[in-house]
Amino acid sequence: MAVAAAYHWVLLLLAGPCVGSFLGLVAARLPEGRAIAWSRSRCPHCGQVLGWRDLIPVLSWLWQRGACRTCGHGLSWRYPAIELAALGIAIWSLAVTPGILAWASAVLGWSLLALAIIDVRHLILPDEITLPLIPAGLAVTWALDPDRLPHHAAGAVAGFLFVVILRWAYARVRGREGIGLGDAKLLAAAGAWVSWQGLSGIVLIAAALALAGHVIWSALFQRRELTKEIPFGPYLAGGLWLTWLYGPITIGSQ
Ligand SMILES: [Zn+2]
Repeated sequence: MAVAAAYHWVLLLLAGPCVGSFLGLVAARLPEGRAIAWSRSRCPHCGQVLGWRDLIPVLSWLWQRGACRTCGHGLSWRYPAIELAALGIAIWSLAVTPGILAWASAVLGWSLLALAIIDVRHLILPDEITLPLIPAGLAVTWALDPDRLPHHAAGAVAGFLFVVILRWAYARVRGREGIGLGDAKLLAAAGAWVSWQGLSGIVLIAAALALAGHVIWSALFQRRELTKEIPFGPYLAGGLWLTWLYGPITIGSQ
């Protein structure tokens, strides 16, 4: 058992930063409709194709002090930051859901990380990431406990409908779009992973995080743009992540 556990740790810790590199590409290219897999990475300033020495997660950036080896232009800190975040997700997954389940947690966490980054930058949650999470969540449920599958399928439907109804009601009252269909697909994915029983807790956590985020943002930047569109995806992603790892919020007994 100890050997098997160590095996998961080593592989996931190695995979984390590499997946982070890939997520950096996905986050940069997916919203612009550019090819993700089949084009080589280039320096955005001089166009130099990056070699393997430039593509070692985090370390390349540190070695070169965050600058391109050819032209010396600064390279964004975002890339090593995403690589470190992906490593953090791998460690968190291993710590809370050990063994083979850590892989499922990590894949979920990495997908949510990519969604959060893209939503913050572009205010969209791409179908390419939200929709595959629905069958993935159901597959993990089936592998863990097939009897629970109906609850998780119901969760996917309920998650989607909840946002769609909220969206409709908001549009009726305020006359404009309040929450996107991308959020509906993300909450559908959430239902698939944590069943309908986890949904209310996710919405609660997301609302609390969004409120905290708004307060911090206003304090930092002295702005109150309540009418400005804010991305809700990162908060839903945070709620799903915590609920997946630690279980649904229960109020009252126990
Ligand atoms: Zn360059």
